[in-house]
Amino acid sequence: MGGTRAPADDGGLASGIRWDLSDLYAGPDDPQIDADLDRALVDARAFEGRYRERVAALDAGELARAVSEYETLLEPVSRTAAYSDLLFAADTSAERNGALLQHVQERTTEIRTGLLFFELEWVALDADAVDALLGDPALARRRHYLSAMRRYRPHVLSEPEERILEETANTGPRAFGRFFDEFVSAIRFRVARDGETIELGEEEVLAQLYDPVRATRREAARALTDGLKTHARPLAFIFNTLVQHKAVEDRLRAFEAPMAARHLANEIDEPSVESLLSACVARYPLVARYYRLKARLLGLARLEDYDRYAPISAEPTQIPFDRARRIVLDAYGDFAPEMADVARQFFEASWIDAELRPGKRGGAFCASTVPSAHPYILLSYTGHLRDVMTIAHELGHGIHQTLARDQGLFEQNTPLTTAETASVFGEMLVFRRLMRDEPDPQVRLGLLCGKIEDAFATVFRQVAMTRFEQSLHEARRNQGELSIERTNQLWMDANRPMFGDSVQLSSDYAWWWLYIPHFVHSPFYCYAYAFGELLVLALLRCYDEQGDEWVPRYLDLLRAGGTEPPPVLLARLDLDITDPGFWDGGLALLADMVGEAEALAG
Ligand SMILES: [Zn+2]
Repeated sequence: MGGTRAPADDGGLASGIRWDLSDLYAGPDDPQIDADLDRALVDARAFEGRYRERVAALDAGELARAVSEYETLLEPVSRTAAYSDLLFAADTSAERNGALLQHVQERTTEIRTGLLFFELEWVALDADAVDALLGDPALARRRHYLSAMRRYRPHVLSEPEERILEETANTGPRAFGRFFDEFVSAIRFRVARDGETIELGEEEVLAQLYDPVRATRREAARALTDGLKTHARPLAFIFNTLVQHKAVEDRLRAFEAPMAARHLANEIDEPSVESLLSACVARYPLVARYYRLKARLLGLARLEDYDRYAPISAEPTQIPFDRARRIVLDAYGDFAPEMADVARQFFEASWIDAELRPGKRGGAFCASTVPSAHPYILLSYTGHLRDVMTIAHELGHGIHQTLARDQGLFEQNTPLTTAETASVFGEMLVFRRLMRDEPDPQVRLGLLCGKIEDAFATVFRQVAMTRFEQSLHEARRNQGELSIERTNQLWMDANRPMFGDSVQLSSDYAWWWLYIPHFVHSPFYCYAYAFGELLVLALLRCYDEQGDEWVPRYLDLLRAGGTEPPPVLLARLDLDITDPGFWDGGLALLADMVGEAEALAG
C-alpha cells in the first residue's frame, strides 16, 4: 500500500516457529480428511440401525458398549474438526482454509444429525431406570458422562427441532463467528510513526499499549479506536445478531437467564458463580489502590486508560524465543519433572505456532484435538515477558490435556471453570522462579507489578466483562436491537466501578468491547478466568503448606480431566468451592501482593 509498510514481515523473534499439523493430516487436500468423514458417516448409519428406539431397552453392559462405539465413531470427526480449526486459525485470510472449515462443519452436521436420537433417548429415560443403570458396575467408567448429559433433560427439544437447529447453525451463529474472526484479522490499524503511517494488525497494535513511551501508547490507543470506529457498524451487527440468536435459543430451550446455559455447561450452580462475582466486585477498591501506586511509580498525577499496561521498569532487552523456552521448562521442571517432560515435547515436535504472520488469529490458545493425537498451541511471540507467561499459560493447558488424554474423547476436557487451572498455575510457577532468581529490588518490583496486573486482568477485568455481558444480554432482550452508543454506555458502566477514580476512561475507551472474541464465540466464558485464578491461588497455598508431597495430588487432579464435576474433583484436594467464603482466600492473597508492591516502592 502506498506510503505504508507492513512491520514484522520476518515473523519477529519467533521466526520459523510454526506448528507441524501433519500428525493430524498431510494438508488441506489430504484425501484422508474426506475418507475419515465418509467412514464416520457409514459407522453413524450402522450405529443408528443398531440403537435407534432401543436405548431404553439396553442393559448396563449393552449401554456401556454403545457409548464406546459412539465415542470411537466420533473420534475421526473430531480430528477433522480440530484440523480445519487449526488451519483456519493459522491463516484466516486464505479462502481455502475457510472453505475447508465450512466443508467439515457441514459434513459433521450430516453425521451428527443422524446420531441425535442417542442422547435424546437417553435423556428421555425416567429417573428410576437411569438410577438402576448407573448403579451397575458395568457403567462405572461412563457414570459421569451419562449423568452429566441428563442435566439437559429440561432443555432438549424434539429430534426434528434439534436437527433444524444443528443444520442452520452453519449458516447462522457459526457463520457469524467465523465472519467476526476473518473481519477482525483483516482490519489494519493505521499508526503514525516517525512521519510515516504504518499499518498494524490487532495483535501488534494491542502490543503497543505495553510500550514504555507514553506517546506510543497514546497513538496505539487512538489507532485502535479509529479502526474499531471505522468498522463499528458491521462488528456491532455481528454482536446484535449473536446476542439475539442466544435469546431465541435460550427461549426455545427454556433457559430462564442468559447465563444459565453456561452454568450448566460449567457444571456449577448460579449461587456459586454469583458468590464468586460479588466477592470480586467487593474487592474492586483494590484495583484503584494498585493503579494509584502505579501512577506514582510512573510519575503521573493520574493514569489515562492507555497507561494501564505501561511497564513499571522498562524491560532491558527482548527475550529470544529459546530463552523463553528455557525459563518455562525450568520452572515446570522445578515443580514436577514429569510436567517439564510433557512440555518439552511441544517444542521438540513442533506443536507450537509462535511466529507473527499476517492473517493469523489473534490471542493465544491450546487446542486439545483428539486423544489419538496431541494438543497444539498458537500464540504470537513478540519477545516480552508477558509472552513468556503466555507460553507458560498455554503449556499448562497442553500438559493438562496430555495428562487427561487417557480419559477419552468425552472426558479428556474439563468444563471451562477448571480448564484454566493448570494454565494459571504454570504462570505462577514461572513468576515465582523469576522472583526467586532476581536480586535487584527495582526489577523485582517490575516483576511483581506485572504479576499483579496479570492477576487483575484475569480476575477483575473478567468480572467487569461478565457484568457487561449480563447487561448486554438483558438490554437486548428488553429493549430490542442495541445502538452502538447504547452498547458503549453499557461497556463503560461495567468498567467504571472497577477503576473508581484511579484511571481516566476516555470516550475512546467506550468502543473497546468491539474486538473481544469471547463475547462472540463463547458468551459468559469470562468468569471462568476469575474462577481459575482464585482457585490457583488456593492451590498454591496448599502447595506452600504441604510441599512436594502435595505435587502428586495435583497431578492426579489434572489426570482426572473432566471425569467428575469440579466441586467433586476439588474436594479430593480438600477444597470446598461451594463455600461462599472460598473466593476471598485468593482475593486476600492479591491484596497481600499489592501491599508487597507498596512496600517495595517505599
Ligand atoms: Zn487459558
